Amino acid sequence: MIIRLAKHLGPPGRRALLAALAGLFPRARFKAVSGGLAVSGLPAEKAADAAPRMENLPGAAEVVFSREELCPLACRKDRPLAGTPLDFRAKPVFIAGPCAVEDLDSYLASAVALKAAGAHALRAALFKPRSSPYAFQGIGWPGLKIIARAAKITGLPLVTEATDTRQVARLAKVCAVLQIGARNMRNYELLKEAGASGRAVLLKRAMNATLRDWLLSAEYLLKHGTKNLILCERGDSRPAGLDLKMLREAKKLTGLPVLADPSHISGDRLAAAALAKAALRAGADGLLIEASSYPLAARVDGRQTLTIEAFRNLTGK
Ligand code: PEP
Ligand code: MN
Repeated sequence: MIIRLAKHLGPPGRRALLAALAGLFPRARFKAVSGGLAVSGLPAEKAADAAPRMENLPGAAEVVFSREELCPLACRKDRPLAGTPLDFRAKPVFIAGPCAVEDLDSYLASAVALKAAGAHALRAALFKPRSSPYAFQGIGWPGLKIIARAAKITGLPLVTEATDTRQVARLAKVCAVLQIGARNMRNYELLKEAGASGRAVLLKRAMNATLRDWLLSAEYLLKHGTKNLILCERGDSRPAGLDLKMLREAKKLTGLPVLADPSHISGDRLAAAALAKAALRAGADGLLIEASSYPLAARVDGRQTLTIEAFRNLTGK
């Protein structure tokens, strides 16, 4: 953590700043380095809180953190591999299913077919965050029985999106992995609740979010209790596509499994299949992908939903 100094700060200003810092942060040490003052002796949790007060002192310009200082849990290298619901040693991991659960028969048929085609877990979305309030919002709680039945029949873990803090505990009873969608990456109350749920969490990168913002959201989950965290790159709108460079950087910095969702940014099933292959070649640990037995009848995202055959082509099963 470095405090960058205001331009043209002379020795008296510097002495005044050091005195103010020592008064405010008696446990911290300040050492002159090129570009400012290096701060040590403040634990990471205290540092983020201290920065705005440091920046507010006359003579200070800004406080700069390294990623490790900003996100000590997310950037931890010695990560214990807690018993995860998904086995990332047998890579790549395929989480597949329709965009949304629509009814019992179609979901069970898709679940069984996807398992046979190589899925390791099922997309099991009951609540859909939609841009239009008039668009299909998901079938909600009546779907809980449907996904529980699919899990029982196939033996596959369920990955479901929680769009609201009030859904977390009930979804966590049935689903092995809670998904935080792109729109909710910055929903900090939802992150805290999901973090404390005791379940694994899959955290998508919000559209056009920086690596820093993504890691800070991961830090929320880890701080609040998540033991199994999976990251998922879902792409940007401009330029449209997955950011595979950022996917690799996130993997390197965190040591966490990082998946790619090729479906939502492509909007087309042929493009999604091509993007899926590119993401795997680029080092994604697996895919979160829309695939089902009835893509043409889907109420949402059917155009980008792979057929079972196309999905099998990806898994090679
Ligand atoms: C989804 O995976 O179902 C979804 C809503 O995607 P995103 O949050 O990436 O838009
Ligand atoms: Mn979708």
